[in-house]
Amino acid sequence: MMFKFAVFLITLVAMEGVGTLAHKYVMHGWGWCLHRSHHEPHLGALETNDLYLVALALAAIGLIVFGNAGHAPWQWVGAGVAGYGLIYVIAHDGIVHRQWPVRPRPRHRYLRRLYEAHRLHHQVKGRQNSVSFGFLYAPPVAKIEQQLQRTAEQGEGCGPQPRV
Ligand SMILES: [Zn+2]
Ligand SMILES: [Zn+2]
Repeated sequence: MMFKFAVFLITLVAMEGVGTLAHKYVMHGWGWCLHRSHHEPHLGALETNDLYLVALALAAIGLIVFGNAGHAPWQWVGAGVAGYGLIYVIAHDGIVHRQWPVRPRPRHRYLRRLYEAHRLHHQVKGRQNSVSFGFLYAPPVAKIEQQLQRTAEQGEGCGPQPRV
């Protein structure tokens, strides 16, 4: 039992790394066409960005089915992926973007930092020069602000590009 739980927990933690890298290099890279909807004003309840969540759910289900077909402990890896998806929905959609009818206020220090950091992520329009790609981990807000300032000074942020 301990081993299964360890697999579950390690997957859960590792998924934040996977999620951060996927957000930075896939969602803000070649997968921008689907993620763009999340960086634009919301028009309806669903966005094409939600397809990433569908992909995550399919991966979790696939792993659980595979593990249960005699390939343990992959079902626990799948459970970890599913757990991460659930926490993502609660933290990102619920607490940070407040897309729910019930709008919990981020009072806890960790949640406030996550909230502020992700707001700064959304402050950068477009796919480039964005900051703070984590969903459950955020660097200190002051650090992100410095990073934003640096890109603005380099002229790569918002506004007109300097002539070369
Ligand atoms: Zn983004
Ligand atoms: Zn967001």
